[in-house]
This record gives sequence, C-alpha cells and structure tokens, in this order.
Amino acid sequence: MNAEALTAIEKAADAAPIPMALLAELTHRCPLKCPYCSNPLDLIRRSSELSAETWADVFAQAAAMGVLHVHLSGGEPAARRDLPEIVESAVTAGLYTNLITSGVGLTEATFADLVARGLDHVQLSIQGTDATTADRIGGYKGGFDTKMRVAAWIVAAGVPLTVNAVMHRQNLDRLSETIDLAVRLGARRLEVAHTQYHGWAYRNRAALMPTPGQVARSGEIVAEARRRLEGVLAIDYVTPDHLAKYPKPCMGGWGRVGLNVTPSGKVLPCHAAETIPGLVFDTVTERPLAEIWREGAAFTAFRGTGWMQEPCASCPRKAVDWGGCRCQALAWTGDAAATDPACTLSPHNARMRAEATGEAADADEAFAYREM
Ligand code: SF4
Ligand code: SF4
Repeated sequence: MNAEALTAIEKAADAAPIPMALLAELTHRCPLKCPYCSNPLDLIRRSSELSAETWADVFAQAAAMGVLHVHLSGGEPAARRDLPEIVESAVTAGLYTNLITSGVGLTEATFADLVARGLDHVQLSIQGTDATTADRIGGYKGGFDTKMRVAAWIVAAGVPLTVNAVMHRQNLDRLSETIDLAVRLGARRLEVAHTQYHGWAYRNRAALMPTPGQVARSGEIVAEARRRLEGVLAIDYVTPDHLAKYPKPCMGGWGRVGLNVTPSGKVLPCHAAETIPGLVFDTVTERPLAEIWREGAAFTAFRGTGWMQEPCASCPRKAVDWGGCRCQALAWTGDAAATDPACTLSPHNARMRAEATGEAADADEAFAYREM
C-alpha cells in the first residue's frame, strides 16, 4: 500500500463511524460462577444498577445514533425482574433485540412475556455437554438441565437460537459432542468461543489454557462439521489469539462498531476497558450517548490509527485489525498502546506463546470461581 493510500485510510479512520451494536450489561448478578466470565473482578452491586426507565432512554438515544441491535447481557439478565419492560423499551426504540442468557432464572412464563413483547433472538450459553461437567464448570448444580428446558421453549416459540460455548482445556476435547448438542437443541448457529483471557479468565489462565494439540484438532473438527452441517447449523470459530498469526480486530476496532454500557451506566469501548489505568469513562446519566461515542476521552484514546506505535504505525494491516486488543496489550506488556502481543510482529509474541504453552501444560484444574 502506498503512503497516499495509507494517509487517506488514517484520516477516515480517526473520525467516529456510526455504531452498529450496543451491549447493555443489565446486571452483574448471576447464579452461575463461570471461571472464564468476562465481567470485571470487582462486580457492580444491585443498588447501583440503572433503572428500566434509564435503559429505555439509552435505547432511544442509541437508535437515534444509528445503532441497529442491542445485546441484552449481564451477568444474567433474567436476574432483573423488570426484564420484560426493558425488552419492550428496546423493541419500541426500533432495535433488534438479542438476549444473552445462561437460561438460569428464566421461567417459562417470563420467557413467553419476552416473546410477546417482541424479543427477536436468544443466545444461550452452555458450559459442557453433560450435567456433571457443565455444572462443575458453571459452579451451579442443576444448571445444565435448566438450559435444556429453556432451549426447548426458545425453539418452540420460533425464536432463533444461537448456542454459545466458551471452550477451554477442560471442555475442548468434547467439541464434537458440543456441535451435536447444538444440532439436537435446534440451534441455527453455534459460537465456538475460545476463552478470552480478561477478567475472571485471566485469573484462571492456568486451569483454562488449551494445549496446541487441542486447538489444532478443534480446527479440523469445525471444518468437517461445517461441511457436514451446511444449511443446518452455522458455526462461528476463530483460532485463539496466542496461536494465530495476527490478532483479531478487537470489538471491530476501538470505538468503531459497538459500545458497552455497564450496569451502573458507564460507557465503555469494550467490556474490559476499565482495566486500562488512566482512561476516563463517561456515564449515561451525565452526558448524551452520542457525545460520549463521538468525543468521550475513553473512545478517542485508541480510535483510528494516530495513537499507534511501531510496528503497527507503519503496518499495512493497521486498518484491518486496528492493532488488536488494547486490554490484552496492557495485560501482557504493561502498555495499552503497544502492539497486541498476539501478533507475530510484536516483540512480546514469543514470550506470550511460551507462557501460554507453559500454562496449557499445567496439571492444575482447580478454578477460582466468579463471585460477588
Ligand atoms: S459467563 Fe457465566 S458467570 Fe459470567 S455472566 Fe455468563 S453465565 Fe454468569
Ligand atoms: S503489527 Fe499491528 S497492525 Fe500489523 S498485523 Fe500486527 S497488530 Fe496488526
């Protein structure tokens, strides 16, 4: 790419694009205790949660900005008794609504109410393919059986179902069974999501990190299943960061595609952004959402390419992967503006791979469970 083309890309990249998606973290409360949960270690309590009225205002502002869909997430969104009102306000705002749930805490009557109010899609998480494994990983007895029941309600109601399976060393050998289970449940899509090492997952790296052999086999299993299940089940799969050549464009690029609102109303460019020291976050109760997105300090800190150091600054991929993940860069290098160490061009890549390989060989299977 010549210098002129790069400059044109940089100028366009530094302006705020129209966001597509809003992740609404309605609560951090959750009956499960997954050791890979992406929620922060310091969880927000119920007394600090935004009201349903404030969420309605946030959804209306988001729709006016051009946001198309809202992911209603947590914690467990069903822990909020006013979830039906919240769903209805998102539908009224004109947003496509996706409920991200563990299924635990959702009753059949509440689910029917959500559907009646216009819920468009459900993403149901599973922790394993049998009750013993799944309930041990999720730290909640009876969770697996509940999820099986909830999946049946979703499919019976004609609501599209995506199964989300977070994979790691302790369940990756059951990937084929996970794919079979998604088909049996009637899911249209399966997200095979390798653990992202933020929040609780970072704390549990030694118990979660997959071996290179497991990852290589999982790529083959997915390739075969995609061929066999074409038209039946779509499978999303990406190689884990530490074994890929280049990093993923984290969040589609910082401040480019989506924004997160925490249970207490802080607006974040990504769910782990609060781990970056020195960033200042605005809240929806103090500033209009469009202004926060366009010119909030946290959003402009790493939007575009102007903040980049070498090797990203002169790399032809800089407007492709946007330098990778800022939180991962901070966690592994101590500098949030460094090249993501998952990139093979990063001077920290060899150390990251060596540490991850060492953790994958760790015999420790004990979890530090997520707790309030
Ligand atoms: S990852 Fe597990 S603990 Fe975290 S919110 Fe989801 S179900 Fe709850
Ligand atoms: S050097 Fe930076 S921009 Fe280039 S591939 Fe690596 S992370 Fe992406």
